[in-house]
Amino acid sequence: MFKLDKKEMMIQTLGKFVDMTSKELPDDVMEKLIELRRYEEKPLAKAIYDVMFDNMEKAKKLSRPTCQDTGVIQYFVRTGAKFPYLGQLREILKQATINATKSAPLRLNAVEPFDEVNTGTNLGTDIPYIVWDVVDDSSNVEIEIYQAGGGCSLPGRSIVLPPLAGYEGAIEFVFDTIVNWGINACPPLIVGIGIGTCANSSASLSKKAMLRPMGNSHPHPKAAAMEKKIEDGLNAIGLGPQGVSGAKSVMAVHIEGMAHHPSVLGVGVTVGCWANRHGIIQFDEHLNYKITSHKGAKL
Ligand code: SF4
Repeated sequence: MFKLDKKEMMIQTLGKFVDMTSKELPDDVMEKLIELRRYEEKPLAKAIYDVMFDNMEKAKKLSRPTCQDTGVIQYFVRTGAKFPYLGQLREILKQATINATKSAPLRLNAVEPFDEVNTGTNLGTDIPYIVWDVVDDSSNVEIEIYQAGGGCSLPGRSIVLPPLAGYEGAIEFVFDTIVNWGINACPPLIVGIGIGTCANSSASLSKKAMLRPMGNSHPHPKAAAMEKKIEDGLNAIGLGPQGVSGAKSVMAVHIEGMAHHPSVLGVGVTVGCWANRHGIIQFDEHLNYKITSHKGAKL
């Protein structure tokens, strides 16, 4: 009985957190948008930023989602092996999704494959999407929630290049992807790039890269240099906010890498939009929680 009460407690907390992340952008995204807004001089670009900030203020004040597309709900679970509710966590995440769908409310975005029928609950086969990572032996868990909108998911690409294509080929693939599709994702964009060994490892890494907190370069100097080079190049295209043209195209470019087969170089690209709704919450074994993505947030 005790465990059931605790389970319900975690469902309630997580449901409120998902609700909140649909209405308040995390600190790093807010700071970057404020910074990019200052760069803009073109009247239309400035006007778009004004609308974005007005939208964010109203979303918070009126308790409504920042964007009508609240996305497919995705959870990235980084858990200790001894977190006492690990076995119940999948169910907890599903129930929290149902709660937030009703309370926020979130748009109904889960469409079953083949039958192409919207489930009407934001639950479906493998939705919410959950990525599990056992990171240590502790009894704590960290859960990152991300709301993957349709427009920002659209540019996502993955390719496996032959060895001679090299990093030049990878960069060309990134530029082709953003030039052809980036405008669909409501710039300024966060571009996540994964250098992997096959299509799915590169795609997964690119999502991890996209979700990395902004303001940190990759620790490897060559990767950091590549992030800077691509960021400068994409900014030179001048997409501007919502693609109306302006000084900046991107909020950030992040790269993550893994060892790869010598005969191939996998490249994945995942794009986040200006309304990059994600948040991080940590629980200890007693279900005390701490929100690390939104300073001063209360549920
Ligand atoms: S790309 Fe982002 S801001 Fe644009 S409609 Fe989709 S979720 Fe909303």
